[in-house]
Amino acid sequence: MGGDEHIVMVPLMAHGHLIPFLALARQIQQRTGFTITIANTPLNIQYLKSTIYTDSNPKLRLVELPYSSSDHGLPSNTENTENLPFDLIGTFYASSKSLSTPVHKLIIDIKEKEGKPPLCMITDVFFGWAVDVARSAGTINVTFSTSGGYGTLAYMSLWLNLPHRKTDSDEFRIPGFPDRCRLHITQLHRFLRMADGSDEWSRFMQPQLSQSLGSYGMLCNTVEEIEPQAVEWLRNYTKLPVWTIGPLLPRPFLEKSLPSGFTDYKQHSGKIPGVSPQMCVEWLDLQDPDSVLYISFGSQNTISPSQMMELAIGLEGSEKHFIWVIRPPVGFDLRGEFRAEWLPEGFEERVTKRKQGLLVKNWAPQLEILSHKSTGAFLSHCGWNSVMESLSQGVPLIGWPMAAEQSYNSMMLVEEMCVSVELTRGTLSIEGKEVKRVIELVLSKTGKGEEIRRNAAKIREQMRASVKEEGEEKGSSVKALDEFLRNILSRRQVQQSIG
Ligand code: UDP
Repeated sequence: MGGDEHIVMVPLMAHGHLIPFLALARQIQQRTGFTITIANTPLNIQYLKSTIYTDSNPKLRLVELPYSSSDHGLPSNTENTENLPFDLIGTFYASSKSLSTPVHKLIIDIKEKEGKPPLCMITDVFFGWAVDVARSAGTINVTFSTSGGYGTLAYMSLWLNLPHRKTDSDEFRIPGFPDRCRLHITQLHRFLRMADGSDEWSRFMQPQLSQSLGSYGMLCNTVEEIEPQAVEWLRNYTKLPVWTIGPLLPRPFLEKSLPSGFTDYKQHSGKIPGVSPQMCVEWLDLQDPDSVLYISFGSQNTISPSQMMELAIGLEGSEKHFIWVIRPPVGFDLRGEFRAEWLPEGFEERVTKRKQGLLVKNWAPQLEILSHKSTGAFLSHCGWNSVMESLSQGVPLIGWPMAAEQSYNSMMLVEEMCVSVELTRGTLSIEGKEVKRVIELVLSKTGKGEEIRRNAAKIREQMRASVKEEGEEKGSSVKALDEFLRNILSRRQVQQSIG
């Protein structure tokens, strides 16, 4: 498809954004032969190179942009949301605008060297500044939301329609959604609840998100069939063409059966691996089908010591098998042993001895666990990558949303897809007996458990169909990506014939 073209991609500096951007870059490169440049701060580029980037393809380039966190009042080496104290994330987001100048220089360098500007820029939805950068260099910006349709729309609409200060009992309609989709005030992150347009978060979010709406179009990491209405609402609200090109997952995990021995385990520098995929798989092999609960809150969230304690009590009381990825609560380190403040006395020894649970420190091979036939449910913070990974394997969820657009993802999973039960939200307190009740409900082979498992299996099939390549049966996401590429190529041809 097309000739010798070049696309420049700029993800937000967070694990959950870098990975889908790299997956998209690989797909476009493989389909077109174009040169793709992913530009980011040095630490993130080094991170990608030392972990998941194993390609030796010279047409997939990773470029380091000059950036210094200390110039923005951030601790040095905090170029990724993962390394940051939570109260500095607003400053970090605001500082990401300083990438606009080096990105502009990069585009101009490419233009001079290749005699034409890149075909387009694909930048994170938070980088509204990219619209002007692209225009001034004679190209277009396409905004990429690494989240789903529902979450993207809710997040954008809530930031663009401030304020939302209401009393604790209030429910309200989110602009862009039908009346039946009502949000409760407890589902709003505290930044959004307090935002009025003049605070640090609003001053970053509002201009960036609204400028993003001036992009040529939007790519969205979802599948048309799994949330058709939300994607339609997103199109109506943004007034942009929205190409649904997800799920951006390693292809073997979207095939009927995984090639034996396949592993996507990534070595994460700076993290304690804790457990190998083989160990997890061997442990899961001993369990019954659909019987194990997998628990993980993503790459950056943690729960409080009291929440950990109640979660442990509920898990043990349920007598269900589980794999729990434990990250230390804020302020604690997990170099050594689990601490008595977080877990009931003797918990680790008891559940290990009884083979009830596998406790994993910091990081687990999530896709390998979710794709194992013994995994029956996923207790998740509802980060969009985790949601897509779970549903792609037909695994229903228990929601515990914490930040970003996770509450809206959870709301959709419960109300629209009927594949999840929400346990709690953020920092709300939780009791062991409620944890036990929800785990038993969701892992049950009858009633609600059976219903959400059936719905998740249907979504798994829709997701797998969406990435089919063959002939007339081409899946919707493959078609959407091709359509997007044809669109931007024909725009360039028209431009060249005029110019
Ligand atoms: N992940 C993993 N092992 C872990 C925790 C997370 O492999 O122990 C991966 C997970 O598979 C997903 C990503 O990290 O691809 C987390 O992304 P998500 O959007 O779910 O949440 P975020 O980390 O952005 O909050």
